Amino acid sequence: MARSEHGISRKQIDESALKVLYRLSRHGYQAYLVGGSVRDLLLGRTPKDFDVGTDATPEQVKALFRNCFLVGRRFRLAHIRFRGNQLVEVATFRRNPAIEELPEDNDEHFHFVQNVFGSPREDAFRRDFTINALFYNIADFSVIDHVGGLQDLADRRLRMIGDPLIRFEEDPVRMLRALEFSARLDFAIDAEIITAIDQRRQLLSGASSARLREEIMELFRHQVAGQVCELAERYGLLDQLFPDLSFTPQTFELLKLLDKRTASGKKIRESLVLAALVLPSFLLQCPLDRDQHINDALAVADRLLRPHCRTYSIAQGIRCEARDLLVGCFRMLRGRGLKGETRFLRHPFTAQVVEFFTLWCQIDPSLNDVLARWQEALETGAAAHTGERRSPRRRRRRPRRKAAMQKA
Ligand code: ATP
Ligand code: MG
Repeated sequence: MARSEHGISRKQIDESALKVLYRLSRHGYQAYLVGGSVRDLLLGRTPKDFDVGTDATPEQVKALFRNCFLVGRRFRLAHIRFRGNQLVEVATFRRNPAIEELPEDNDEHFHFVQNVFGSPREDAFRRDFTINALFYNIADFSVIDHVGGLQDLADRRLRMIGDPLIRFEEDPVRMLRALEFSARLDFAIDAEIITAIDQRRQLLSGASSARLREEIMELFRHQVAGQVCELAERYGLLDQLFPDLSFTPQTFELLKLLDKRTASGKKIRESLVLAALVLPSFLLQCPLDRDQHINDALAVADRLLRPHCRTYSIAQGIRCEARDLLVGCFRMLRGRGLKGETRFLRHPFTAQVVEFFTLWCQIDPSLNDVLARWQEALETGAAAHTGERRSPRRRRRRPRRKAAMQKA
């Protein structure tokens, strides 16, 4: 598609990416903008990052840029750093290796992760969806389409490059990416993809848990987690993705509220994601009795979080923060005036609990009164002045410790 036929203007392209493209081109290399950025520019969206594809080898790229670092063990990529922590990733065109080129220690993601240099056309064909395989050529400002991606963009349709059955066997994470892009762009998923997901869905649970964990967090960063989880349920992928969790209709609602929260500009932490995934089940399993001990709630939270965290190798610190969010909600639900309230109100983490609980109140508005009472306590600074007294033991200890320090 020639320059005059598409709407991409160089003004929309990041300055650092342009510098890289021009410099490669001036030195006689092919230099294209590739991947998601071309798709987003054609859709009039702001790309998240600008990736560059070239026929220069990583070493040749390095020789051209002083601010270049080669990264990646199996497939070398060039990272070119600019002021303000800006980074442009430059990848040499690659192709899928032929069977006889596969090494003995072939791993499950070999097809996408470790491949060999190829032509631009081969590079387009190794990508996942047609709309993700468009190139913007800096030499003549044209858009190069080897896979029919422009037509699919016009039709707002997500289509796999090649046979989806084979592409999902090569890399099952692509099933999740299909749902993600359909939700992000509001594109229809091609019928062939849906049939293939139906036939290959059990492969997803065998995919690398590290990659799945990262793609799941991407759903939250892109504010489509609620929608994608609903799609995953419809297409039978939810159990594959979250084998240790049970979803209720409220889980989907809560995830959508998290998405809205992220859309308002707030950062999403994994602990909040975990807490939201688990909160409806947690509340079902945690009887709300004012006499119920916090330790019981802690045990329920742990029982629900541990298997999922084990499956995804999620660090203890993140799990404990999620547990504290859940138990904090439990504490708020029990109402005010119970043991430990002063400490809770003073604790720096409580602001996060209150924010989380406020989301839950949008789902269960009958809790708004409880919430209002807690907010009142927080706002009036009751934290510092409640009648709750320190235990005499602590009061006695303080001066002693101080005295010991002074002596030392
Ligand atoms: P965004 O960065 O906006 O989330 P993106 O399309 O750039 O979207 P990335 O995950 O950054 O997505 O991947 C960059 C490109 O790499 C994709 O556009 C696609 O062409 C290719 N790609 C990524 N993951 C895969 C995969 N699992 N299989 C095949 N190609 C992939
Ligand atoms: Mg990208």
